[in-house]
Amino acid sequence: MDRDAKGLAIVIRSSDIRDYDRLLTLFSPSMGLIDIVSYGARKSVKSVKAPLYTEGNFSLEKGRRGWTLKDIDVISTHERILEDLDLRQSAMLFSDLVLLARTAEPELYALYTSSLDALESYPFEKVVSIFIILFLSLEGLSGDYLTCPSCGREFGNDEVLGFRPDMSVAVCHDCDTLSMSLILPPNARLYLRRVQEAGLDKALDFAISPEQEHRIFRYLLRCLLVSFPHRLKSLEFGIWRI
Ligand SMILES: [Zn+2]
Repeated sequence: MDRDAKGLAIVIRSSDIRDYDRLLTLFSPSMGLIDIVSYGARKSVKSVKAPLYTEGNFSLEKGRRGWTLKDIDVISTHERILEDLDLRQSAMLFSDLVLLARTAEPELYALYTSSLDALESYPFEKVVSIFIILFLSLEGLSGDYLTCPSCGREFGNDEVLGFRPDMSVAVCHDCDTLSMSLILPPNARLYLRRVQEAGLDKALDFAISPEQEHRIFRYLLRCLLVSFPHRLKSLEFGIWRI
């Protein structure tokens, strides 16, 4: 990149540095994942502010110490997310997963920003589950829930699946390496498959009972924890009991 850069982006991480500045991580389909400093972000009323989860067209400038924020045309601030603990926790998990994937593919950007929007109007457990299912699918980490990603055998209709953390996928009974302690029953597997096929917008309107929604939510969080140990701070130090 040149000394200046401009592009669509969203703030996915924000932390205080020094007395008045903030270090922001931007997720941008055109600029990638990029750390920038927002000088005076905590002091001056005149300085450009970009709170966490602000989406917009960012203008950046490269100085001796790296990229800094020059200007921003705000598209959305996602303010409601910051006001609710569960929504904050959900968004933090989305950011953790993007940082884990270390990619800024346009499909992942669309999933991330649309999921933040969805958090403001749908139950958070539903949105989080759909995000994880589609994230794993985009990153090639889930298989298709029709055949075992480990041995290639087609699953039976009534088959209960186990898990293989080293591949981070649900597998058949024979390929399971967790003594069937993380199981996926047939009806839940069907739901995961349907979400994977439908995409975010349609999946948000799937009818599912709150109990089933909660079971799938917990299942997916546990899958992430055993697949990516010590890499998802939002889950390991977060408020959800998993
Ligand atoms: Zn298998």
